[in-house]
Amino acid sequence: MCMPKVFVTHPIPDRGVELLREKGYEVTVNPSSHKLPAREELIPLLQNREYAAVLLLLNDKVDAEVFDAAGKQCKIFANYAVGYDNIDLAAAAERRIMVTNTPDVLNETVAEHTFALMLAIAHRVVEADRFMRAGKFHGWEPMMLLGTDVSHKTLGVIGLGRIGSLVVAHGVRGFGMRALYYDVKRNETFEREYRAEYRGTVEDVLKEADFVSLHVPLLDSTWHLINATRLTMMKRSAYLVNTSRGPVIDEAALADALKHGVIRGAALDVFENEPEMHPGLKDLDNVIVTPHIASATEETRQKMSEVAARNIIAALEGQAPPNLVTLKI
Ligand code: NAD
Repeated sequence: MCMPKVFVTHPIPDRGVELLREKGYEVTVNPSSHKLPAREELIPLLQNREYAAVLLLLNDKVDAEVFDAAGKQCKIFANYAVGYDNIDLAAAAERRIMVTNTPDVLNETVAEHTFALMLAIAHRVVEADRFMRAGKFHGWEPMMLLGTDVSHKTLGVIGLGRIGSLVVAHGVRGFGMRALYYDVKRNETFEREYRAEYRGTVEDVLKEADFVSLHVPLLDSTWHLINATRLTMMKRSAYLVNTSRGPVIDEAALADALKHGVIRGAALDVFENEPEMHPGLKDLDNVIVTPHIASATEETRQKMSEVAARNIIAALEGQAPPNLVTLKI
């Protein structure tokens, strides 16, 4: 019997690939490390190869043409990420192709990275590191590199989902912060447990928060959720942290706001036009940047690999994958 063929668009931690191979599937891992949104690269790699499943990355842009290149026998595109804004779900549904993601296993890692960024920008850690390496430290000084405390400040979370709610939990329990949030869905049970206060609009969070942290998916409704107008509603002393998706912020407007002191600082893991960042951010000391690594720990990237593989195995065994984001089978 011919075993199903699985295509993995980029090398990933091995656990998932091993699981697929243990099932006897014929697994091809694309060795190339593509940097482009890999639509053009993907099409010829999928055409006439009869893959039953594709395991892909968040920078693989998938539309109708990519699904058609994969062919009618292809049952599932398993995204190696929580966000699936890189995939045209309507085109997948039309073709009855399942799409899955890797939620839950990265919540703690992304929440930790959010706090790593929040603490680093507030305590000027990156700036201080540069200062030290440049030989500028000539002795302890009472007013050198003054930052701001995170403890007991007001945390404003936009998007109280799996990651946003953990960020609130850490802020409240770990740092004694007061928490405000806005989400399209209110969660009163959570509010009671963490003394979190719901605000009915994004603006109401922005006006009060000392640290604003974004945890929404990238949707039409969240594109440029933080724009020039909303930045002016934030406190001048406030910081913005983004570990969600880059286009949730108008990055040009943010660069301008940071340059002119509209807000005090920002810490970004994601960018509007990855892998680029707005040139206006590059020389500013009041912004710190990491290259989309919020889920990048060895443990979590292995778990994501396993989750993506289990979604494929379920689909190929005729069951509903645990993390289906479109189309019930
Ligand atoms: P989730 O689906 O559990 O939570 C998202 C929350 O946003 C939900 O509560 C939803 O109701 C809310 N929401 C949706 N639209 C909204 C809107 N217009 N306004 C306000 N709230 C809105 O998702 P999650 O697992 O917490 O992940 C959140 C996002 O973080 C993902 O979609 C992904 O894009 C991003 N992410 C990034 C990294 C990274 O490496 N930087 C890692 C994991 C996830």
